[in-house]
Amino acid sequence: MKKLHLITLVVLLLSFNSFAQETKSIYATMSLSDALELKKDLPDEVEILEKRRNEAAVYFTDHAGHYLHDKVLVHGPGYIFKNSEEDAIAALYKEAKEIPANKMAFTITEDVLVNAALDLVNTQNIEDHILELEGYGTRYHAFPIAIDVANDLKDKWEAMASLYGRTDVSVRLYNHTNTNMPSVIMTIEGDVTPDEFVIVGGHLDSTSWDDNDAPGADDDASGIATMTESVRALFELGFVPNRTIEVMAYAAEEVGLVGSAEIAEEYADNNVDVISVVQFDMTNYNGSAIDVSFISDYTNGTLNSFLMELIDHYNSDGVHTITYGTSLCNYGCSDHASWTSEGYMAAFPFEANFGQHNSNIHSPDDTFSVSGTADHAAKFSKLCAEYLIESAKSNVLSVDDILVNAVAVFTQNGQLIYNLEAASRDFTSIILYDIQGKKVLEAPIISKTGNVSTQSFSKGVYVATFVVDSETSVSKKVIIK
Ligand SMILES: [Zn+2]
Repeated sequence: MKKLHLITLVVLLLSFNSFAQETKSIYATMSLSDALELKKDLPDEVEILEKRRNEAAVYFTDHAGHYLHDKVLVHGPGYIFKNSEEDAIAALYKEAKEIPANKMAFTITEDVLVNAALDLVNTQNIEDHILELEGYGTRYHAFPIAIDVANDLKDKWEAMASLYGRTDVSVRLYNHTNTNMPSVIMTIEGDVTPDEFVIVGGHLDSTSWDDNDAPGADDDASGIATMTESVRALFELGFVPNRTIEVMAYAAEEVGLVGSAEIAEEYADNNVDVISVVQFDMTNYNGSAIDVSFISDYTNGTLNSFLMELIDHYNSDGVHTITYGTSLCNYGCSDHASWTSEGYMAAFPFEANFGQHNSNIHSPDDTFSVSGTADHAAKFSKLCAEYLIESAKSNVLSVDDILVNAVAVFTQNGQLIYNLEAASRDFTSIILYDIQGKKVLEAPIISKTGNVSTQSFSKGVYVATFVVDSETSVSKKVIIK
């Protein structure tokens, strides 16, 4: 297999060479050292427009872009696409946004909610979603199927929000200038400070040396599935954020961070108050002794430290244990770099130490079967939930409110069905009262899920009371039809 790949690579490189004169050139920014090396190796195909600090604005051929990709062994493109020479040069002079001190102070205060969320993350859901995305065969941004993929994800996210009755959630397609593939953005509107944004993202497109066969299971179906399951857990919990949360599935990451760059630029131009951004790109290959490797270049140190504190606080032992370390990636190795280059705080927790990551990416072999389980991605899903809850904060529910939210009850086909799995307390019994307050049923609760028959009751509104002890109970209205 390896030999075959090498031969294919050589053929591809040769064919890129012969087409080099016909393919278009692009503007971009990249690390200064990469730009200098590229210029040395391909002097006729690379023009360095301007240098500043450790970055360069560059004009280069498609072929040079591929060459860079292979040479520096990044899993992303290694550069950030720019529309024009002016844009590329201007990007070098963008300064980090000034972040007010009160927003810098990341705090850990939402223990009850976070601990409940960790129990709700479902590994099977992540596996199912990865397989669903892998099933398209390719999500290459320039193919028509990429538009279907984006529309389908929009539908999936909308269905998920409506399943949990979330009227505060909307999903939109974000259309781009430099790719036909749209990005998909889910917005959970903040209840207290909706103008402050907490963002997580991953890329929806895939690539391969044969773009018709680009399953992209780890790169980056895993990231999309990871975030989706975190948000589903938050919905199941009834979590309402104080700040607005956005979940972004970017288009065309693999060809210069095109989707995220356009979005981050628009947010910056409109002065959108983004608190911080976390990228999930490749989460399901367990290649190192540690679980999570925080990429420490082109990311924000304060945000990285906060994510590590979250893991120390919530994942130091027990069933939700997560271990971590740090490694270096490279310039533009994923969409976090788009946000970093616009001056926002961004982080990139990665599946392994860089270099020990999944070697099947960008090939037809990047399938779910390489890992065969979504256990590794589930750890990232937990980290994602911790980050979202602790950064967006909840509308200060009391412990009692949380218990109320954790009780799910409904009636169907002559049964009253309940699910108490999200509750932090154990319930002893269920009592059903009719509208006059008369007790019509009392039954012990033996497990956290169960049902009781309502077939002998007349139609109407009842109150189901779930008893914890003599001081604590949760009552919810049910309608028997
Ligand atoms: Zn990727």
